[in-house]
Amino acid sequence: MSRILLMGNPNVGKSIFFTELTGIHAISSNYAGSTVSFMEGSFTVGGKEYTLIDVPGTYSLTPSSEAEAVATSFMESGAQAIICVLDASNLERNLCLGLELQQYNIPLVYALNLLDVADRHGITINTKLLEQELDAPVVPTVAAKRQGLDELITKLEMVLNTPKTDCIHPTEAKPETNQEIEHISCGNCSLCRFNSQKEPVDAWVKAKEIVRRVSNKNDIRLSFMDRLGEAMMKPMPGIPIAFLVMAIAIGVVIGGGRGLRALFFLPLVNGVIVPFFRNLFTALLPEGMFLNILVGEFGIFVISFEWILALIFPYVLLFYIVFTFLEDTGFLPRISVLFDNIMRKLGVQGGSLIHMLMGYGCAVPAIIGSRAATSRKERIVISAAICFAVPCISQSGALIVLLAGYAWWMLPAMILFSLLLFVAVTLIAGKLVKGTIDPLVIEIPNLLIPNPKSFVRKLITRMKHFLKDAEVPMMIAIIIAALLSESGLLNIIAVYAQPLVTYWLGLPAEAVIALILGIVRREMSVAPLLVLDLTALQAFVGGVVSLLYLPCLSVFAILAKEFKIKIALTITLSTIVMALFVGGLINRIGQLFIA
Ligand code: GDP
Repeated sequence: MSRILLMGNPNVGKSIFFTELTGIHAISSNYAGSTVSFMEGSFTVGGKEYTLIDVPGTYSLTPSSEAEAVATSFMESGAQAIICVLDASNLERNLCLGLELQQYNIPLVYALNLLDVADRHGITINTKLLEQELDAPVVPTVAAKRQGLDELITKLEMVLNTPKTDCIHPTEAKPETNQEIEHISCGNCSLCRFNSQKEPVDAWVKAKEIVRRVSNKNDIRLSFMDRLGEAMMKPMPGIPIAFLVMAIAIGVVIGGGRGLRALFFLPLVNGVIVPFFRNLFTALLPEGMFLNILVGEFGIFVISFEWILALIFPYVLLFYIVFTFLEDTGFLPRISVLFDNIMRKLGVQGGSLIHMLMGYGCAVPAIIGSRAATSRKERIVISAAICFAVPCISQSGALIVLLAGYAWWMLPAMILFSLLLFVAVTLIAGKLVKGTIDPLVIEIPNLLIPNPKSFVRKLITRMKHFLKDAEVPMMIAIIIAALLSESGLLNIIAVYAQPLVTYWLGLPAEAVIALILGIVRREMSVAPLLVLDLTALQAFVGGVVSLLYLPCLSVFAILAKEFKIKIALTITLSTIVMALFVGGLINRIGQLFIA
């Protein structure tokens, strides 16, 4: 099928166009590098079906990161047309790419997007003049409000139907003539226009010149949001604001999650769902192992609801509400700038903070997202730090429930421990991995109040993704738990694991099940501990082991895919060794205090 490329700088609204045109929901985010792997979907223009490719955002066709290299390779392999999305509030930089794209003999339509933001900044652009300068259709759009989409499709159809003028390009010339072939210019196609320039034009110079001719900037008073956006990048008041926002975010996830669990999900699961299945199966089946596998202590119809619905779902939901909100406002790139100096001391860019925060949701998209990092070293360091020290939200939910039942200080202590661990792993990995870390170059988007429709759509997509990705491994873990416990195999394994689990870690022998299930999913290394009646020290040790323990099968798979199997194995083995070593150490130190 013929393809159309959707291209532009990062963060200019491409994902919204993609969703609107194909009906496939691409996650749109208010920071650069959110689309680092491409998405494709089919859509119809003028009765013909095309594949639309949402190409990762790029600033130029000279790639400086993996994400940008993907974009360049799409150009090399050709397309029927390109929709180039330009940010009207940042036209000069956007036009550089827009002009570079003209090097290829591919018809172009420009969407002049974010016109509402440009307007707020007092920028007016003469679209007709810009069209003449670019010699291609320019459609004014406000993607967030779905304005200009119909005209964009009309113009796209127009360029797709415009016959190409024949001309001979160097690549088309017959190789057997074996002579220097001069480019015969038709003067009509973009390649000819570009190539026929005697001196190659510097895209920056030309972009500047075009912007001077087509746009006007009036001095207007910056809006409150613009002034706040600026202020948030200065240490004062930026740092206090950042801490305040993070404290509120953590409060909403932890406090809200606990409230939702206690007031809604626990009564629903323990009062309605589990009794319903217990009664149903007890009435239908005779007593015995099979019945226990279904509705016994570790029964599939008991723990799947207790663990998935009551334990982790409230936290996952609240985390994604908060994260999506922060993402859409433009808060995340601002804290990257604010904390760049501190992150640099750890050996990574401030931009890595975004991936770390993403990792608190799930390590898989965080590791994929690190493709936006400009050096391989940075990617490996941040991925390792996420695997070691950043618990995913499902695991955090389970840890919150585990620790909150003891002393008030245990949860803050675990958070502090994970932050210290993050610092230590980043420093150590930074020393071990060879390579360089580039300076931070990050686009600062406008500070926005999220669009409610996009926000809800994105949240629903994220929750669907979570349920789809987590469902199978969770059910596998739950079935393993049911079979191990009801078949008596767990008791046998527990005897063999006693030296490690009981002697070294100080946990009850049955806790070995947490280590087994934790291989499949991270929260499963905590959930079984909840029914074990642990002491405070045991709960803390169990929490630390789980935090450090290997980063679940999906993360292993993504590490192996993104890097090499050697790196995936190194990270996985080190996490296991470290988890068991540090857990035992804390147990020993704790015993001294208790004694
Ligand atoms: P991409 O990185 O190019 O795919 O950009 P996204 O589709 O993720 O959009 C980046 C951010 O800009 C999101 O927060 C969008 O809601 C916002 N956005 C996109 N287009 C517009 C627009 O025309 N006006 C405004 N105000 N915001 C927009």
